[in-house]
Amino acid sequence: MIPIAKPIIGEDEINAVVEVMRSGVIAEGQKVKDFESNFADYVGTSYAVAVNSGTAALHAALLAHGIGNGDEVITPPFTFAATSNSVLFTGAKPVFADIKEDTFNIDPERIIEKITPGTKAIIPVHLYGQSADMKSIMEIAQDNDLIIIEDACQAHGATFEGKKSGSFGTGTFSFYPTKNMTTGEGGIITTNDKTVAEKAKMIRSHGSRQRYYHEMLGYNLRMTDIAAAIGLVQLKKVDEFNDSRIRNAQYLSKSLNNIKGISLPYVDRRCKHVFHQYTVRIRNGITRDEIISLLNKRGIGTGIYYPLPIHKQPFYKDLGYSDSLPVSEKASEEVISLPVHPSITRTDLDTISQTLRELLS
Ligand SMILES: *Cc1c(COP(=O)(O)O)cnc(C)c1O
Repeated sequence: MIPIAKPIIGEDEINAVVEVMRSGVIAEGQKVKDFESNFADYVGTSYAVAVNSGTAALHAALLAHGIGNGDEVITPPFTFAATSNSVLFTGAKPVFADIKEDTFNIDPERIIEKITPGTKAIIPVHLYGQSADMKSIMEIAQDNDLIIIEDACQAHGATFEGKKSGSFGTGTFSFYPTKNMTTGEGGIITTNDKTVAEKAKMIRSHGSRQRYYHEMLGYNLRMTDIAAAIGLVQLKKVDEFNDSRIRNAQYLSKSLNNIKGISLPYVDRRCKHVFHQYTVRIRNGITRDEIISLLNKRGIGTGIYYPLPIHKQPFYKDLGYSDSLPVSEKASEEVISLPVHPSITRTDLDTISQTLRELLS
């Protein structure tokens, strides 16, 4: 089976973990600090605060910006549930703005329609590894005095007009095993705002700067030194991983180029798309389920990100959401992701494109 995702863990990562284990300092040691400083350098922000998941990064970033009860936060519905769930954690209300058909990212024009006096923030998601339109979004934020929290959980190393994802507003990243780099479980917040960084650090550790003195309500969202040690090694390799994803995606797009009934990923010229996912739409008469089951039978793993937009999830329906967001709804029915991660070989890519050609003709 050609898997849809596969973390690359080498001897360096294994040795780094063993070193931490032998040192006896397995939490809150120097590794977390080093990882934060190296990741901030990588993204180009003054600060980074490491936490134990991407979800925790979103949650702590929202709280650090003072978002809570009575506030509205605009997000796309075509994303992983963590994006809007983290808004709910704070007591604020997620407000969904539809996406663009070509990039699958939040549509700036739809954002403007959703702004009310209660709007405090926008969470653009850089879906599949391609930045949202940060030029338009930053303008909207400036004009309306809104906070930007980027969900860059799929966009390590991605850029928009040469600037890294996670450096426009406050950035949030995940290091779950399937992401472009991993720490096992983990996440990080990137920001240029010193106050936000300091508050995020407190929120990560029960609201305390000094142990056993609590200035605010916080949580335990801390990253371990074991995770940070893996992250330090992975961070050195992430550009190489991304280059390999991009090469695989380009090769696949070339091979699939003239097949009818399949639309290939659109790359915005202003973006470096790091292909967390290579996502196509199938419009061929043959159903998506049929294609997936045939591909799987031929040993090709696939993914659907995401089969049900957030506003249509049972839990959100119970909360009273009944929006019509047609571009997201249609995307949910049509998308299929194909493997392009760094372990994929040319032979695998040829198998994928030849099989699809055969199935669709
Ligand atoms: C993975 C992901 C998250 C959550 O990260 P976890 O580390 O799994 O908590 C949030 N948003 C998006 C878009 C993601 O892909």
